[in-house]
Amino acid sequence: MLTVITHSPEETWELARKLAPILTKGDFISLSGDLGAGKTVFAKGLAVGLGIDAPVTSPTFTIIKEYEGKLPLFHFDVYRLASAEELEELGADEYFYGEGVSVVEWGDRVEEILPKERLSIRILRLVDEDLRRIEVTPHGERWNKQVDKWLDGEERVDS
Ligand code: ADP
Ligand code: MG
Repeated sequence: MLTVITHSPEETWELARKLAPILTKGDFISLSGDLGAGKTVFAKGLAVGLGIDAPVTSPTFTIIKEYEGKLPLFHFDVYRLASAEELEELGADEYFYGEGVSVVEWGDRVEEILPKERLSIRILRLVDEDLRRIEVTPHGERWNKQVDKWLDGEERVDS
Protein backbone atom coordinates (compact mmCIF):
# COMPACT_ATOMS: atom_id res chain seq x y z
CA MET A 1 0.00 0.00 0.00
CA LEU A 2 1.15 3.52 -0.80
CA THR A 3 -0.05 6.60 0.98
CA VAL A 4 -0.33 10.13 -0.33
CA ILE A 5 -1.49 13.09 1.75
CA THR A 6 -3.51 15.83 0.05
CA HIS A 7 -4.05 19.24 1.59
CA SER A 8 -7.06 20.46 -0.39
CA PRO A 9 -9.81 19.22 -2.72
CA GLU A 10 -7.78 20.65 -5.61
CA GLU A 11 -4.83 18.42 -4.73
CA THR A 12 -7.03 15.33 -4.68
CA TRP A 13 -8.60 16.39 -7.97
CA GLU A 14 -5.16 16.93 -9.51
CA LEU A 15 -3.90 13.56 -8.27
CA ALA A 16 -6.85 11.90 -10.03
CA ARG A 17 -6.38 13.97 -13.19
CA LYS A 18 -2.79 12.72 -13.38
CA LEU A 19 -3.98 9.12 -13.30
CA ALA A 20 -6.07 9.47 -16.48
CA PRO A 21 -3.24 9.46 -19.07
CA ILE A 22 -2.03 6.01 -18.01
CA LEU A 23 -5.48 4.40 -18.15
CA THR A 24 -6.65 1.98 -20.81
CA LYS A 25 -9.93 0.23 -21.54
CA GLY A 26 -11.04 -2.24 -18.92
CA ASP A 27 -9.21 -0.42 -16.14
CA PHE A 28 -11.01 -0.50 -12.83
CA ILE A 29 -10.75 1.86 -9.88
CA SER A 30 -12.49 1.25 -6.58
CA LEU A 31 -12.97 4.26 -4.29
CA SER A 32 -13.82 3.92 -0.63
CA GLY A 33 -14.07 6.23 2.34
CA ASP A 34 -16.84 7.82 4.37
CA LEU A 35 -19.42 10.29 3.10
CA GLY A 36 -17.60 13.52 2.26
CA ALA A 37 -14.20 11.86 2.09
CA GLY A 38 -13.57 13.01 -1.47
CA LYS A 39 -14.54 10.08 -3.72
CA THR A 40 -16.53 12.28 -6.08
CA VAL A 41 -13.79 14.92 -6.11
CA PHE A 42 -11.48 12.14 -7.26
CA ALA A 43 -13.93 10.97 -9.94
CA LYS A 44 -14.24 14.55 -11.24
CA GLY A 45 -10.48 14.89 -11.64
CA LEU A 46 -10.35 11.59 -13.45
CA ALA A 47 -13.11 12.73 -15.82
CA VAL A 48 -11.30 15.94 -16.70
CA GLY A 49 -8.12 13.95 -17.26
CA LEU A 50 -10.05 11.82 -19.74
CA GLY A 51 -11.16 14.93 -21.62
CA ILE A 52 -14.74 14.89 -20.35
CA ASP A 53 -16.37 18.35 -20.27
CA ALA A 54 -19.75 17.31 -18.85
CA PRO A 55 -20.25 18.04 -15.16
CA VAL A 56 -19.72 14.93 -13.03
CA THR A 57 -21.88 14.39 -9.96
CA SER A 58 -22.29 11.41 -7.66
CA PRO A 59 -24.71 8.98 -9.34
CA THR A 60 -26.27 8.20 -5.97
CA PHE A 61 -29.75 7.60 -7.34
CA THR A 62 -28.95 6.35 -10.82
CA ILE A 63 -26.12 4.06 -9.56
CA ILE A 64 -24.30 4.48 -12.84
CA LYS A 65 -23.51 7.30 -15.22
CA GLU A 66 -21.65 7.04 -18.47
CA TYR A 67 -19.48 9.80 -19.96
CA GLU A 68 -17.81 10.08 -23.35
CA GLY A 69 -14.15 11.03 -23.27
CA LYS A 70 -10.85 9.83 -24.73
CA LEU A 71 -12.14 6.61 -23.21
CA PRO A 72 -15.69 6.12 -21.97
CA LEU A 73 -15.95 6.59 -18.21
CA PHE A 74 -18.44 4.52 -16.23
CA HIS A 75 -19.00 6.20 -12.89
CA PHE A 76 -20.80 4.14 -10.25
CA ASP A 77 -22.01 5.00 -6.77
CA VAL A 78 -23.18 1.80 -5.08
CA TYR A 79 -24.06 3.39 -1.74
CA ARG A 80 -27.77 2.68 -2.13
CA LEU A 81 -27.45 -0.91 -3.30
CA ALA A 82 -28.33 -3.62 -0.83
CA SER A 83 -25.96 -6.21 -2.21
CA ALA A 84 -23.32 -7.07 -4.77
CA GLU A 85 -25.90 -9.25 -6.55
CA GLU A 86 -27.96 -6.16 -7.26
CA LEU A 87 -24.99 -4.62 -9.00
CA GLU A 88 -24.47 -7.80 -11.01
CA GLU A 89 -28.11 -7.68 -12.08
CA LEU A 90 -27.52 -4.18 -13.45
CA GLY A 91 -25.04 -5.76 -15.85
CA ALA A 92 -21.94 -4.48 -14.08
CA ASP A 93 -19.61 -6.92 -15.80
CA GLU A 94 -20.46 -5.46 -19.20
CA TYR A 95 -19.06 -2.18 -17.94
CA PHE A 96 -16.21 -3.54 -15.83
CA TYR A 97 -14.78 -5.64 -18.66
CA GLY A 98 -15.93 -3.33 -21.45
CA GLU A 99 -14.51 -0.57 -23.61
CA GLY A 100 -14.01 2.08 -20.96
CA VAL A 101 -12.71 2.86 -17.51
CA SER A 102 -14.85 2.09 -14.46
CA VAL A 103 -14.69 4.06 -11.25
CA VAL A 104 -16.87 2.84 -8.38
CA GLU A 105 -17.63 4.88 -5.27
CA TRP A 106 -18.10 2.65 -2.19
CA GLY A 107 -16.40 -0.18 -4.09
CA ASP A 108 -15.47 -1.87 -0.81
CA ARG A 109 -19.17 -2.65 -0.30
CA VAL A 110 -19.26 -4.90 -3.34
CA GLU A 111 -15.70 -6.14 -3.22
CA GLU A 112 -16.58 -9.76 -3.99
CA ILE A 113 -17.67 -8.96 -7.53
CA LEU A 114 -14.92 -6.50 -8.42
CA PRO A 115 -12.30 -7.40 -11.04
CA LYS A 116 -9.22 -9.04 -9.53
CA GLU A 117 -7.01 -6.60 -11.40
CA ARG A 118 -7.86 -3.24 -9.97
CA LEU A 119 -6.67 -0.14 -8.22
CA SER A 120 -8.16 0.33 -4.77
CA ILE A 121 -8.15 3.78 -3.25
CA ARG A 122 -9.27 4.58 0.26
CA ILE A 123 -9.68 8.20 1.30
CA LEU A 124 -9.57 9.06 4.98
CA ARG A 125 -10.28 12.34 6.69
CA LEU A 126 -7.66 13.56 9.11
CA VAL A 127 -8.07 15.96 12.00
CA ASP A 128 -7.39 18.97 9.84
CA GLU A 129 -10.52 19.84 7.79
CA ASP A 130 -8.84 19.77 4.36
CA LEU A 131 -6.32 17.01 4.90
CA ARG A 132 -6.88 13.58 3.41
CA ARG A 133 -4.88 10.41 3.66
CA ILE A 134 -5.14 8.58 0.35
CA GLU A 135 -4.24 4.92 0.57
CA VAL A 136 -3.50 3.28 -2.75
CA THR A 137 -3.46 -0.50 -3.12
CA PRO A 138 -2.67 -2.02 -6.51
CA HIS A 139 -4.13 -5.46 -7.21
CA GLY A 140 -2.39 -7.41 -9.95
CA GLU A 141 0.92 -7.08 -11.73
CA ARG A 142 -0.09 -4.38 -14.16
CA TRP A 143 -1.35 -2.07 -11.44
CA ASN A 144 1.85 -2.60 -9.46
CA LYS A 145 3.73 -1.01 -12.35
CA GLN A 146 1.11 1.60 -13.17
CA VAL A 147 1.04 2.92 -9.64
CA ASP A 148 4.73 3.79 -9.80
CA LYS A 149 4.15 5.72 -13.02
CA TRP A 150 1.19 7.51 -11.51
CA LEU A 151 2.77 8.51 -8.23
CA ASP A 152 6.21 9.30 -9.60
CA GLY A 153 7.19 12.64 -8.10
CA GLU A 154 4.37 12.64 -5.52
CA GLU A 155 5.31 13.11 -1.93
CA ARG A 156 4.33 9.78 -0.47
CA VAL A 157 4.54 7.78 2.68
CA ASP A 158 5.21 4.15 1.76
CA SER A 159 4.27 1.41 4.17
P1 ADP B 1 -17.70 11.63 -1.27
O1 ADP B 1 -17.95 11.43 -2.74
O2 ADP B 1 -16.56 10.79 -0.76
O3 ADP B 1 -18.91 11.48 -0.42
P2 ADP B 1 -17.20 14.37 -2.07
O4 ADP B 1 -16.08 14.24 -3.04
O5 ADP B 1 -18.56 14.58 -2.62
O6 ADP B 1 -17.18 13.12 -1.06
O7 ADP B 1 -16.93 15.56 -1.06
C1 ADP B 1 -15.70 15.78 -0.44
C2 ADP B 1 -15.78 17.11 0.29
O8 ADP B 1 -14.62 17.31 1.06
C3 ADP B 1 -15.89 18.26 -0.69
O9 ADP B 1 -16.75 19.23 -0.13
C4 ADP B 1 -14.45 18.79 -0.73
O10 ADP B 1 -14.39 20.16 -1.04
C5 ADP B 1 -14.00 18.53 0.69
N1 ADP B 1 -12.54 18.36 0.84
C6 ADP B 1 -11.77 19.04 1.72
N2 ADP B 1 -10.49 18.69 1.64
C7 ADP B 1 -10.41 17.73 0.67
C8 ADP B 1 -9.32 16.97 0.14
N3 ADP B 1 -8.06 17.08 0.57
N4 ADP B 1 -9.62 16.09 -0.85
C9 ADP B 1 -10.89 15.93 -1.28
N5 ADP B 1 -11.96 16.62 -0.82
C10 ADP B 1 -11.72 17.52 0.16
MG1 MG C 1 -19.68 10.77 -3.80
